[in-house]
Formats: sequence, structure tokens, C-alpha cells
Amino acid sequence: MAEVDTLRRFVFERYPFRGQLVHLGPAWQAMMEHHDYPAQVRDALGEAVAAAALLASTLKFEGLLTLQLRGQGPMHLMLVECTEGLRLRAVARFRDPPETRDLRELSGNGTLTVTIENEGAGNRYQGVVPLSGSSMSECLRGYFESSEQLPTRLWLHADGDNVSGLLLQRLPVTSRPVTATESGGGVLPEDEVEDAWRRVQLVADTVTGKELAELDDSKLLHRLFAEDDVRMFESAPVFFRCRCSRERVENMLRALGRKEVDSVIEEFGQVEVRCEFCSRSYRLDAVDCTALFTGPGNPPRPPAAVH
Ligand SMILES: [Zn+2]
Repeated sequence: MAEVDTLRRFVFERYPFRGQLVHLGPAWQAMMEHHDYPAQVRDALGEAVAAAALLASTLKFEGLLTLQLRGQGPMHLMLVECTEGLRLRAVARFRDPPETRDLRELSGNGTLTVTIENEGAGNRYQGVVPLSGSSMSECLRGYFESSEQLPTRLWLHADGDNVSGLLLQRLPVTSRPVTATESGGGVLPEDEVEDAWRRVQLVADTVTGKELAELDDSKLLHRLFAEDDVRMFESAPVFFRCRCSRERVENMLRALGRKEVDSVIEEFGQVEVRCEFCSRSYRLDAVDCTALFTGPGNPPRPPAAVH
């Protein structure tokens, strides 16, 4: 049995490569509970969820990693957010039930945007690439090849019950201390590292969705990298946790403006805001809405901190 709702890091003892495995079962099912996506949209979103968790855990940041896909196709928006503590939420919007599983067709030749808001350091990074493949893993391959980041590959699988993923990343050789006892001392020749990097990718290309979904981490790593000395670390939990709150809804309504809010009250007697990620519903009556614009907290405060 595969792990559930966990992320596990591993390293290759001989090479400057590291990897991660992620599995979401109950967390993924909870994420999809209030959504009725066609299977193609659900699985594309699931792969993006696995990818976001894997990417977030390769980074040292304190904030939010966002994977966003926008296009003109049947699935015109996909948005996944992951915090540094591996708290995830995700949403997709689609117009027509799509017939394809090709991500470029699904999204209508969309673009993929990766944003990292590092609140700890107070900076923000954003990379935008056109979709360069038929799946999220191929598109991310294009993303990594076109940016000046560490060589990174992902293998992803999603269905109605689980999402899983494998990430491999090649580190700069200098970042890995080589001890005198290791491989006779010194740094490995570059061409040996290059050959090994090519080999581990070819091996990982043989992994099936079923294996990613069903094998536990040690079995999967043994199946793939039996000839390598791979060291696994303790796994970390992954969560579905929405960041919506009444306070955020109130700030959003304040930003919308009193005129707009009053007109909704006039027509419906209340304002109902449903969170698109988790379907939680927030209701404000006329008194609540008046308080929004006259009570404490005015003028509008900046949006509440994420988390
Ligand atoms: Zn929510």
C-alpha cells in the first residue's frame, strides 16, 4: 500500500541528485468532495496538486507557491496553492465537458505561471511559460529547461482516489560536500554525473501511474533505483487546508465597495459568498454589511496575511 497524504525526500548517496515522492489520498478526496469535475479536469488538477507539493518542498520559502494555468480552452483556469507547510488547495474552471486529456488542448494553448511569494524574505518570484507538452510533467519540464533553475523532472499521476508524484532534481556539484571516504575522495567526474543523471531519468520514465499510486515509497524506490544507493528520510504530512475566512470575505467585500454590496442586499436581502476552493459559504445580512463600511476596520485594511 502506498503512503497516504505524505511527502518523502530521498537522496542518491553517490550523486548530487535528490528526489521526493508525494501521495495524497484522503486529502485529495476531501479537496474534490464539493466539486463535480469531468475526469479529464479532475485528473489534470490532481497532477497539478502533486506538482505544487513537490515543487514547494524543493524550495526554502515561507509563504505560498502558486501554480496557475490559463487559456482559452474548455478548462480555461486551473489554480493550485501550496504553503511551505504543505497545506494545499486547488480549483479549476471549465466551460464544456472536454473530450481530451491533452493539457494544451484542455487549456486552449494556455500558459503556466509559477509564483513564489516568500513572505519570510519579503520577495516574490514569478515565471511564465507557454504550455510545451501534453501533460503537466512535460510542461514543467519545459518550464525548468527554459529557466535558470536546477535541472528538475517530475512524474505525476492522478485519478478520483489518489494523486501521486515523483520529483528528481540535480544539484550543483559544489553544493554537496564530498568526504574523503566517499568514492575515494574528490568530486565525481562531470561526465559520470551526467551519465547517471540521464540514466535515472530514463529509469523514472518507466514508472507507471499504477506504480506511483500503489507502491509504498521504499518498494517504489527499490523498483526504480535498485542499483543506486538511495537514502530515504522521514515522510512529512500533506494537508488540504483552505485559507478562506470570514475576515478575508469581509475584506473582499470592502474592496468591492459599498454601492455594489448594497445593491446585492437590496435584491437578495443578504450577501452570500461561496469559497470556490472548499465550497464553504459565508453569509452576511444587511446589518453585517452596514458594519462592514461603518464599523471598526475602516478604511479597508490590507488583505489578511496568508495562512
Ligand atoms: Zn475555502
